[in-house]
Amino acid sequence: MATKAKFQAIRGTRDLLPPETALWNHVEQTVHEVFRTFGFGEIRPPIVETTELFSRAVGQESDVVQKEMYIFEDARGELWQARENVRNCFFRPHENSSVQVLRGFLGDFQSRLQAGLQSREVEHDAGQTQFYQYFSQGMEYFSKLTSNDPDLPLQIHGKVLEEIERMGAFLKNAIVGVRIGTFVALRPEATASVCRAYIEHNMQQLPQPVKLYYMGPMFRRERPQKGRYRQFYQIGAEVLGGTDAPAIDAEVIEMVMTFFDRLGLEGVELSINSIGHAADNCRRGYVETLRAELNKVKDKLGADSRRRIDTNALRVLDSKLEHEQPIIARLPKIADHLCDECASHYARVKKELDLRDVKYVENWRLVRGLDYYMRTTFEITARGLGSQNAVCGGGRYDGLVELLGGPPTKGIGFAIGEDRLILSLQEQTKAHSSSESSPLATSHSPRLYIAWMGQNAYAAAIRAARNLRAAGISVELPPAEQKFGKALERASKLNAKFALILGDNEVTSGEWALKTLADGTQQKLSESQLLDFLKRL
Ligand code: ATP
Ligand code: MG
Repeated sequence: MATKAKFQAIRGTRDLLPPETALWNHVEQTVHEVFRTFGFGEIRPPIVETTELFSRAVGQESDVVQKEMYIFEDARGELWQARENVRNCFFRPHENSSVQVLRGFLGDFQSRLQAGLQSREVEHDAGQTQFYQYFSQGMEYFSKLTSNDPDLPLQIHGKVLEEIERMGAFLKNAIVGVRIGTFVALRPEATASVCRAYIEHNMQQLPQPVKLYYMGPMFRRERPQKGRYRQFYQIGAEVLGGTDAPAIDAEVIEMVMTFFDRLGLEGVELSINSIGHAADNCRRGYVETLRAELNKVKDKLGADSRRRIDTNALRVLDSKLEHEQPIIARLPKIADHLCDECASHYARVKKELDLRDVKYVENWRLVRGLDYYMRTTFEITARGLGSQNAVCGGGRYDGLVELLGGPPTKGIGFAIGEDRLILSLQEQTKAHSSSESSPLATSHSPRLYIAWMGQNAYAAAIRAARNLRAAGISVELPPAEQKFGKALERASKLNAKFALILGDNEVTSGEWALKTLADGTQQKLSESQLLDFLKRL
């Protein structure tokens, strides 16, 4: 009876398997090739960073930070263990032994915390110190209540029991508030890390701008669906430092489009917009106007949009709700409220795109919710993805490096959703060739299967396999002797192109038999002829 597998990949994560991984490699190889020609170097930041880096860079208000991050406290060691002991201790206030155990654990925690604060191994700020003082007072009281001193037979009185229960629970809960280690998060995106690295490695001293690209897994705790996973992959690039010349914006966009083009991705659509900058005569003024208009139609909006009028009015434009669409269509447009510099920057970006033959549509509803995003924003959609059809999002963020503690630095970048890109490429191949699998799909099949029999043949087979593999040919060398019939059967199952038949006769005569599996034809070749023949294919 088949039983359900005990272990399964966690919801929203998945295994990428052959032959699909060949396509992933092909995409990533193309990234290296194309991005290099635009002068970008690869950066590989860590997958975990302090939570604070992301809450600053991505924004405390964003969905990503508020509900999608995987966060944990990076702490171990004796103090952490002491806190775990308190936390896991099952407290039964009516049993003296249980009370004494909790008291022991709390005492142990208290003395270790004190030592940690003194040695500065534990983060030592006003909040933590104050916590320690309150906690110590609480402990003093709890110790009196629970003392075994016969002169203080407090346990007998019901009132005291109540106090023990209350204080024990209180102290047990309170310890959770101490920061023992740092809070770290699995990265939900990588722009923050790249900016952090730019500052940390003093890259502003390098020739500007610094052009970096990355690829790798990102983590967001979203509701999984087609094109949306909890572990997904992004390919991104950032241009940091130097000027904010519109040509830079256009070239970054041109690079993404060139990359998609090189992959043969069809049905790509680029939308662009400018969101101005955070000033009263520009975006801030627009947001005020927008907010006033939104308040007039408040009653017709859904709950999310209504809430956003005050917290993040621009994001209302992002709404996908059917019934809000006609309302949004009548709202004031940001293009009419840009300051002169931003308007001119936008006009020049469009001109630069035209010069590069990059086709775009303008979408005034394409926004970013954060203050440091400014001017150019863009998004690229692809086919075959249903409602999750954005494969790339990007924009200018001149304030971000400074926000993270670096010098004022211009910045622009994008992130491509690699999973969605691959999905779209796969849908495309399906549409073109209904039954045939793509050449990439079988790229890991062996070219040559060696059907050997006999110990002399085996030695020759090992040698041939080594030489052929060194020449880049994929070879399947069966680990045990098989009858030729069986071997040929297996060779076709594995989708091999050729079978080399190597028995003692062939070894003695030096004439090896190579069978083409598709048509069954056979030819005789010497060892060196065989190598030449396969290499030339
Ligand atoms: P969406 O509106 O689709 O949630 P987003 O605005 O959250 O996208 P960005 O943070 O700009 O996306 O990330 C850039 C790209 O990364 C997206 O265009 C998309 O292709 C991809 N992406 C984002 N979240 C996921 C996810 N959970 N699973 C797969 N791909 C994702
Ligand atoms: Mg999202």
